[in-house]
Amino acid sequence: MAAPLEIFNASKSFRTPEGGTLIALDKVSLKLASAEFVTLLGPSGCGKTTLLRMVSGFESLDAGDILIDGTAMTDWPAYQRPVNTVFQKYALFEHMSVGRNVGYALEIAGENRATIKRRVGEMLDLVGLSGLEKRSISQLSGGQQQRVALARALAGKPKLLLLDEPLSALDKNLRQKMQQELKSIQRELGIGFIFVTHDQEEALSMSDRIAVLAGGQIQQLGTPAALYRRPENLFTARFLGESNLMPVRIAGGQAELADGQRFASPHKGAEATAMLRPEALHLTPPEGPHLTFDGIVTAEAYTGKDRQITLETASFGPLHALLRAGGWVPEQGATIRLYASLGDLHLIDEVAR
Ligand code: ATP
Repeated sequence: MAAPLEIFNASKSFRTPEGGTLIALDKVSLKLASAEFVTLLGPSGCGKTTLLRMVSGFESLDAGDILIDGTAMTDWPAYQRPVNTVFQKYALFEHMSVGRNVGYALEIAGENRATIKRRVGEMLDLVGLSGLEKRSISQLSGGQQQRVALARALAGKPKLLLLDEPLSALDKNLRQKMQQELKSIQRELGIGFIFVTHDQEEALSMSDRIAVLAGGQIQQLGTPAALYRRPENLFTARFLGESNLMPVRIAGGQAELADGQRFASPHKGAEATAMLRPEALHLTPPEGPHLTFDGIVTAEAYTGKDRQITLETASFGPLHALLRAGGWVPEQGATIRLYASLGDLHLIDEVAR
């Protein structure tokens, strides 16, 4: 079976008003496994929307190829491509009923009324809006409008669905609910989803794989756990949540932190950066080889399930720790020692500036 989407070396530049050139995408390649949920994650301006627009056919490529379901899309206009897009601003037809919105593309394609009615019913069932065919769009909540937009995008049975920050207009609770629903709808339909967001938690919780984009290039592509625990570069480490980054020197198979603590490392380069996520720091020593960090607690905050503390250290500056709430909590100003298992320390082959 062909992959739902293959992107080979896609590049795109724009002319700037000042007469310069802006490279929006630089040789981006990406292949979706069948029925995979892949998220494009990156800061504003990194090229996420441009990449989606190339797939949907609204933007041309300067170089490279895009294949959908095994077919090269170069000469295919947007309206003939077997993809559809859900936008942040739902772009619904306000003056039409829910049912006509959902069935609109089928109506334009000349489908008969019975087929449209059945398909609209199926789609509204899928998104949890059964029976609302006759409602007008203005009578719906933001969350319901989002569901109509989704039903409309899926009505024509696309082979691939593109979602451009579809949840960012929703409040936090509704957003979390829709995250789960989107994921289960994707599983049920068994088609590929490309989801765009700049929210790292959303990307981590929903995706089969995440492509971290910055400066028009994919910085890293992998599962949420791989990107979070084993980022390949500093950008990915920093973008996917809080991290403590510490310089290391390496010689003769031994790595050394700035405070003199040493550990064995197969790392090749002479310098690297060690990363510890805040939840890898503990108040009690773990079993097995570990590192210790002494310092003064300079900030402390309760988040409900965790305690965040900042430990000011002489060698590394502030370290951020996430301690499980409930146990003993060091007070601000206390001198304490934190521990981290060596297995939780990850070396990145780049020097932090
Ligand atoms: P955001 O999260 O803010 O939507 P993005 O990652 O989706 O950002 P893009 O919209 O893909 O980013 O834009 C990538 C870069 O290309 C930006 O610097 C943007 O200003 C530029 N760009 C996009 N479209 C055009 C255009 N039609 N003409 C000129 N520059 C453009």
